[in-house]
Amino acid sequence: MATYIVLLGPPGVGKGTQAVVLAQATSLVHISSGDLFRVNIKNQTELGKLAKSYMDKGELVPDDVTIAMIRDRISQPDCKAGVIFDGFPRTPKQAQALEKMLGELGGHVDVVPYITADEQVLIERTGGRWSCRAQGHVYHEKFNPPKEAGVCDVDGSVLYQRDDDKKETVANRIHVYFEQTMPLVDYYHKAGKLIEIDGAKSMEQVTSDLLAALKK
Ligand code: AMP
Repeated sequence: MATYIVLLGPPGVGKGTQAVVLAQATSLVHISSGDLFRVNIKNQTELGKLAKSYMDKGELVPDDVTIAMIRDRISQPDCKAGVIFDGFPRTPKQAQALEKMLGELGGHVDVVPYITADEQVLIERTGGRWSCRAQGHVYHEKFNPPKEAGVCDVDGSVLYQRDDDKKETVANRIHVYFEQTMPLVDYYHKAGKLIEIDGAKSMEQVTSDLLAALKK
């Protein structure tokens, strides 16, 4: 049976970085809703134009379009063994839609690692973040620098700083997270699926804590 993992946590806590490592360590596919939107923005699709108008302000893209995008992605053959969701769901409505979609595929959310850190840590991490356009690999100029500045270690593509990692936008993204996404912590806790992970530790330590928690 397929395995479905939802990585939960505030912006800048390291979800994207950890999701890439976990996907390599398992046979699961990494799906980042933010990356899917960014590909649409790059390709100048209608969805991309719509998403950008929300992302630039640090707001959430409306549930219906986000859910439709994820439904389309998880129905693809590479997702058969399971998925690590990164950045989705972000609202209770998305969480309910996910349960329904996975139910139709004969599965359910198995486990929800919840990575936490203080607001100060989040602001510091988003500030120095660099991302690769090709596959979404993420670096930090201080905590996880690439071997060569401005170049992705994995695929050699150029690194860029996300528009929504600007100071004012980050503050709003964190605010939106506490308002709209925090209820999911309660939702998955009540469902007995939440495992809390301290995201303020080093990247390697968080990875090993995550792998240990998933083994259980
Ligand atoms: P992320 O890469 O996960 O930090 O997401 C970047 C931005 O994309 C967010 O600030 C939102 O504007 C948008 N976004 C990503 N995932 C979702 C989602 N599940 N629901 C709504 N908006 C999202």
